Amino acid sequence: MTDNAFLRLAHEGVRRLRPYQPGKPLSELERELGIRDAVKLASNENPLGPSPRALEAARAALAEAGLYPDGNGFELRAAIAARHDVDPACITLGNGSNDVLDLVARVFLGPGREAVFSEHGFVVYWLSTLAANAVPRMVPAHDGSRGPRRGHDLEAMRAAVGEATGVVYVANPNNPTGTWLRAAELEGFLAELPRHVIAVVDEAYFEYVEEPDYPDASRWLGRFPNLVVTRTFSKAHGLAALRVGYALSHPDVADLLNRVRQPFNVNHPAQAAAVAALGDADHVARSVAMNRAGMRQLEEGLRALGLHWIPSVGNFVTVDVGRPAAEVFQALLREGVIVRPVEEYGLPGHLRITVGTEAQNRRALEALGRVL
Ligand SMILES: *Cc1c(COP(=O)(O)O)cnc(C)c1O
Repeated sequence: MTDNAFLRLAHEGVRRLRPYQPGKPLSELERELGIRDAVKLASNENPLGPSPRALEAARAALAEAGLYPDGNGFELRAAIAARHDVDPACITLGNGSNDVLDLVARVFLGPGREAVFSEHGFVVYWLSTLAANAVPRMVPAHDGSRGPRRGHDLEAMRAAVGEATGVVYVANPNNPTGTWLRAAELEGFLAELPRHVIAVVDEAYFEYVEEPDYPDASRWLGRFPNLVVTRTFSKAHGLAALRVGYALSHPDVADLLNRVRQPFNVNHPAQAAAVAALGDADHVARSVAMNRAGMRQLEEGLRALGLHWIPSVGNFVTVDVGRPAAEVFQALLREGVIVRPVEEYGLPGHLRITVGTEAQNRRALEALGRVL
């Protein structure tokens, strides 16, 4: 044991960390079952994949694979700046938005600092906080009496903020619950937050939300210098494999984030694809329409199975399977259907199902019917 004394060099946060559990890859299940038509509805990917224009741009960019990418992401930042009507100095590019969430933790958290987030909140807030050796303060979600059951309880989150708080994470909508916050309540929360605290509003599923009261938090950047809004190309834009996301913030915040960012964190094909994706609004519209229809299909199927689910505005739905979900997950795997257990989110009786194509949704519902 004494030769492993170096283990104590790892700080307490790292020692408490359990690695992120990704959705099971299709290829892995197909190898295990010896089949070729498995369905993966486990990672909230776009069943249509990327825009053909984004793919073409990525392919063309591969010709320059021998060169380092543009570390400043000039073209992509210009396209994002135009989209949000902000100065490019407000933008921090990330290797997925997960990367910018980590940058925020590295810059604004650390020993003795606390991060506030909600129960059932996206697990990366927990992971980034521990990796920065800071203290996670997880606030119980709504119990249903004062707000949507399992949604963020902003009042309780506000009450958990104190002198030691460095960052508050709000997911709108949240993954894996699909719950969301209205413009007035989120704006009120941000307005009341002390200015020594960074407020992260994670809008990974922004494009999918069609509720009239749903806010675009980037509109408030001018009012709240402590606000960081994160977006991704992994979900509605269908570019999960290429890893591109970004943060919008006050330029002083972006300056700090960019100091610790790896100089070449977003590769060249990814930057090119993301620029092209921003230019293809039709593809996003098609994806959103397909999601709307697929969500209806899943909800009808789940209702027919007598199941309850958490009402979701994202491209996924988290279902109460009425028994330990790990067993149902395993049984669905044997049916060639990969969904996502959410036990680590404090939901051991639930499974999260990504909205897929009509045929994929049917396959998942039929398998669920057989398994239950
Ligand atoms: C998927 C997801 C992200 C980040 O995904 P990236 O691929 O790293 O951009 C961020 N927040 C939430 C809530 C998500 O579900």
